[in-house]
Amino acid sequence: MHVFREIAPLQAHLKQYRISSSSLGFVPTMGALHQGHLSLIRASRRECALTICSIYVNPSQFNNKDDFEKYPRPMDRDLELLKEAGCDIAFCPENTEMYNGSAVYLKFDFGPMGETLEGQFRPGHFSGVALVVAKLFHIVEPDFAYFGQKDFQQFRIISHLVKELKFNIILRCIATVREKDGLAMSSRNIRLSPEQRRDAPALFQALMQVKNGLLEGKGLDQLTRKAKAFCKENRIDVDYLTLADVHGLMALDKFSPDQQSILLIAGKLGDVRLIDNLPVN
Ligand code: AMP
Repeated sequence: MHVFREIAPLQAHLKQYRISSSSLGFVPTMGALHQGHLSLIRASRRECALTICSIYVNPSQFNNKDDFEKYPRPMDRDLELLKEAGCDIAFCPENTEMYNGSAVYLKFDFGPMGETLEGQFRPGHFSGVALVVAKLFHIVEPDFAYFGQKDFQQFRIISHLVKELKFNIILRCIATVREKDGLAMSSRNIRLSPEQRRDAPALFQALMQVKNGLLEGKGLDQLTRKAKAFCKENRIDVDYLTLADVHGLMALDKFSPDQQSILLIAGKLGDVRLIDNLPVN
C-alpha cells in the first residue's frame, strides 16, 4: 500500500492510473477505523480497480473543540488495517496541506436539509463536511465514492454537493455495520466507559421499538415518547428521535406506508455523542 501525506506526489501517482483509465474508488474517513469503514473499502474493491482511503480529522466540521481534540487518532493501527483490507493507497494529509494555514473556512449553506437534525445540534458541521469532501474530491478525482448509511444526513448533503458542483462521481451508500448487540460501529465508541458501552445499544433498540410500533399501526407521538423514556432509563440523553422523509429529511408528524421514511436518533452518553438511523419502509 502506498501512503501519501502530500497532494502533489499523490496526484502524480494517480496520473498513471488515469492514463490506463482504471476505475478509482474513494473512501473518505477520519480514521480510528473499524469494520464499518472496512466494509466501505471492500465495497470499493469489489467495484473499482484501485481503492484510495483518506484519513483526516477535519477541524472545520467540529463545532466542539473538545470533541476535535479527543477524537482518536491511532494512525499506525489504521494503516495496518487498510493494508490488511487490500486498500491500494492511503492519503493522510496534515492540516497545513488541506487548509494552507487559512484562518477562515469557506462556507456552504444547504438550506433546511443542513439545518435540521444534526445541523440543529452541530451548527456549521455540514458546511465543514462539505468543504473537506469537496477538497478531497478535487484532489483525488475518483470515479466512485463510498459513504456509510450510518451518517445518512451526511450522505444526503454530499449527494447534493456532487449534483450542485457537477462532480463526475458516482456515490454509493453502504449499509451500517453493527456490533452483535446492535450498536452501530463508530470511532467514538472507544471513548465509552464499560457502563456506557452497556447502555449504548439502547439507541438502536429505541429505533427498533418505534419502527415496529409504526408498522403495527401505533401512533408516532406515543412511540417516540416511550422510546425517549427508554433511552433515559439507559442514561442516554436524547437530542432528537425523529421520523423523516427519506429524500429531503424533513420531519414527519405521522407515519404513512406510502411515503418512504427513516427514523434518526442522536444521544449523549456522558460527553460522547452517538447517532444512528433506521429506514422504516
Ligand atoms: P468517519 O470516519 O466517522 O468520518 O466515517 C467515514 C465513513 O465511514 C463515513 O462515510 C461513515 O458514514 C462511514 N461509517 C462510519 N461508521 C460506519 C458503520 N458502522 N457502518 C458503515 N459505515 C460507517
